[in-house]
Amino acid sequence: MVARRKGRGFLSIRVVESPPNTMNNKHSRTSWRCIVCIKPVPDPSRFDRLRLDPETMLLKRDEVPPVINPLDRNAIEAALEVKHRLGGRVAVVTMAPPSGQEQLVEALALGCDRAFLLTDKAFAGADTLATARTLAAACAKLGRFDLILCGAWSADGSTAQVGPQLAELLGIPDMVHVRRMELSGGKVLAHCHRENGTAVLEAARPALVTLDQDSNKPGLAPMTGIRKALQSKITVWSCRDLGLKPRQVGLAGSPTRMLNVFAASASRKGEIFQGTVDEMTTQLLERLNQEQVLTTGKGGKR
Ligand SMILES: Cc1cc2nc3c(=O)[nH]c(=O)nc-3n(C[C@H](O)[C@H](O)[C@H](O)COP(=O)(O)OP(=O)(O)OC[C@H]3O[C@@H](n4cnc5c(N)ncnc54)[C@H](O)[C@@H]3O)c2cc1C
Repeated sequence: MVARRKGRGFLSIRVVESPPNTMNNKHSRTSWRCIVCIKPVPDPSRFDRLRLDPETMLLKRDEVPPVINPLDRNAIEAALEVKHRLGGRVAVVTMAPPSGQEQLVEALALGCDRAFLLTDKAFAGADTLATARTLAAACAKLGRFDLILCGAWSADGSTAQVGPQLAELLGIPDMVHVRRMELSGGKVLAHCHRENGTAVLEAARPALVTLDQDSNKPGLAPMTGIRKALQSKITVWSCRDLGLKPRQVGLAGSPTRMLNVFAASASRKGEIFQGTVDEMTTQLLERLNQEQVLTTGKGGKR
């Protein structure tokens, strides 16, 4: 995998033991054109109110207002840091229903320069690949870019697939779950969170980075930014504007098929043992034996 990706712009890869958790920009004096992909998601602080429609088995989204996916705020913050330190412009893109323009206005208020809403009935029912294909067409239409920033995953779908798929479609290196990023001399050095430590990847621009929660602290929109954003124009692109065919996008362009959706039901019951540690351990072992949980495959008891 490393060798294949080196061909796509990776310059070096090394693994270190302790995960750094701060953003550190040792930027050089070259400007960067950034694209941030943001997804509107139901407000995670109100997930307890999300319900499935019993007829259609689709999420009843209207009861929970959409917000910018939390990790996409980290992606916006990272792009704005790059712009402030090195210069350049930040474009923000979402594939969403027309209501997605609210999240784009917020991104403009935070400091992004241009906003693009990819919306078309043909986009409905897109799986991650069709979503990435649509975003890739938009990034290509935007012209020269140096860095694409995404959240590491979305709060609702949570597949973490869109970023890497987007990079693959554009033929650029991707660095995922990034906790710290340094830009210098046209290169991106990214500290990527891994199960057993941190992988430090270096790639030449253009590259794609997906941001983890602890990469930075997203800011709030200043009042002047809000006023300016409300007067800004949002560019709307349809399937046709992106040069895509309806069969390439939405449900028609999605290799994933949803076979069934059902609400998970928990039929387990808890049992609380009381007494000293030894007494509780004995009770627990007795119960596990009764339930034959400790029975070996050969029929004997352990
Ligand atoms: C068969 C099928 C049908 C579906 N139908 C629908 C549907 O009708 N309506 C619906 O809302 N969802 C639908 N989905 C879910 C849809 O696939 C996901 O919402 C979408 O592909 C993003 O995947 P994710 O949430 O796992 O993103 P992740 O890969 O976890 O997101 C990572 C990052 O990618 C970027 N990103 C993700 N999505 C977008 C986006 N839309 N715009 C800009 N940036 C983005 C963000 O930076 C995000 O932080 C369907 C899924 C399947 C499998």
